[in-house]
Amino acid sequence: MPTVRFVVIGGGPAGVAAATHAARLGAEVTLVERDVIGGAAHLWDCIPSKAMIATGGAISFLARSKGMGLQEVNPHIDTGNLSERLASIMKHLEDSNCELLTSQNVRIMTGSGALISPHEVEVTAADGSTEVIEADTVLLSTGSRPRIPDWAAPDGERILTTRDAYPPPEIPEHLTVIGSGVTGVEFVHMFTSLGSKVSLIVSRQHVLPDKDPEVAYELEQNFIERGVRLLKGARSTAIERTGDGVTVTCDDGRIVESSHALLAIGSIPNSESLGLEAAGVESEWGFIPINQNAQSNVPHIYAAGDLSGKLPLSSVATMQGRKIAEHMLGMHKDRPHRHISYSKAASAIFTEPEIADVGVSEADAFAHGRKVRVTKVPFSASAKALINDDPRGFVKLISDPMTGVVLGGSIVGRHAAELISIIALCVTNQLTVGDLAETLFVHPTLSEILVEAAE
Ligand SMILES: Cc1cc2nc3c(=O)[nH]c(=O)nc-3n(C[C@H](O)[C@H](O)[C@H](O)COP(=O)(O)OP(=O)(O)OC[C@H]3O[C@@H](n4cnc5c(N)ncnc54)[C@H](O)[C@@H]3O)c2cc1C
Repeated sequence: MPTVRFVVIGGGPAGVAAATHAARLGAEVTLVERDVIGGAAHLWDCIPSKAMIATGGAISFLARSKGMGLQEVNPHIDTGNLSERLASIMKHLEDSNCELLTSQNVRIMTGSGALISPHEVEVTAADGSTEVIEADTVLLSTGSRPRIPDWAAPDGERILTTRDAYPPPEIPEHLTVIGSGVTGVEFVHMFTSLGSKVSLIVSRQHVLPDKDPEVAYELEQNFIERGVRLLKGARSTAIERTGDGVTVTCDDGRIVESSHALLAIGSIPNSESLGLEAAGVESEWGFIPINQNAQSNVPHIYAAGDLSGKLPLSSVATMQGRKIAEHMLGMHKDRPHRHISYSKAASAIFTEPEIADVGVSEADAFAHGRKVRVTKVPFSASAKALINDDPRGFVKLISDPMTGVVLGGSIVGRHAAELISIIALCVTNQLTVGDLAETLFVHPTLSEILVEAAE
């Protein structure tokens, strides 16, 4: 069989995973990236945001030092050090991705890629020079960027998108966050822990409208305790710069004056200059609809990651990339192959307390009239939570009352993002509450609380 020539446009989690895996499986792979290998995920999204949150977490931990039997410690932030820390993490990740790709003989091309026909990709370098590469199969994985509404003009100084915040030259004295979905609440948490006063514009009646209301309530309570001003049921209609601040106007007439404003109102796909028409690839609102194998309407052209309009998560993008490599090379035919089940993807919100969920939620089950067994155990019942001096939050386990199969779960509390993986493993592999209850966990650990919820 002739070697498959595979061209990947976009080197984020989807592109890197597909390129590495396909090369390992024997394809001749070219990866085209116009910016940084690792993608927006490493440069702007997952990694720098979590690194900033980790710094904020260290501050909150020290603020609670009295609870750990220590004298109080009051650290102050050095934005120069913080920037260096972020840059060094990103450089490390970029280098290790590049090493991984080159070790598998992936050709990395720096430039912007676009389809000029169904089997040709043109790469334009920064100096304007171009090269055309022939491809048997193509992956479009160019990701997304922050949505900017027509009533806002981010300037990178006081009116910020999420990409301007790592970290800003000065920690805002008072930040207005517009948008109370996952990204918005993470930024509220991040800047509150770094010492900013924060106002949050919440267009609905509570934050995180797509999450279990009980979980959203816990987070709101925490925000209120930390002095966050919640403006509920308000939509921003204008942001203007004043002398040394910004004014955000809402549709109900409320006005918020602050030193900075940050937009966190979703993303739009990077598809406008991909040459989709030249290759006959269909798109909807800029996203590329895909089938269960991640193929577009043109079978040898795949799409993955944020561009595919599925769950905008790095973990999902990576899994799609691996599955695409296997499908493209026919690996799904001669060994067991599972399609991605998007409804079983675990996700987390890195706030304090941390929030994570997977599979069916109690609210979903209720809304669809589905009978489920719900067990809820508070972290205050865990010895390890007391040792950590952090008994906030709970675990909620959702199972089938007839078979005991674990259907989902929500966790609010310290290390929720790590703990949810155990429930995710159960959900994906249809393990039962009995399987969970009979697993010997380490004592004392937070994971033991899952055994209690399963009993
Ligand atoms: C603030 C924030 C925090 C987030 N945190 C998390 C998190 O904690 N966990 C999580 O799972 N998800 C998180 N996400 C979502 C996650 O970042 C995305 O789902 C993920 O980056 C999508 O990966 P991707 O491969 O589709 O593309 P991206 O990571 O967006 O990478 C796409 C790449 O394509 C390149 N590109 C674009 N056009 C071209 C072109 N024409 N030619 C060549 N290259 C091109 C870009 O330069 C970029 O490098 C977060 C998102 C945001 C906004």
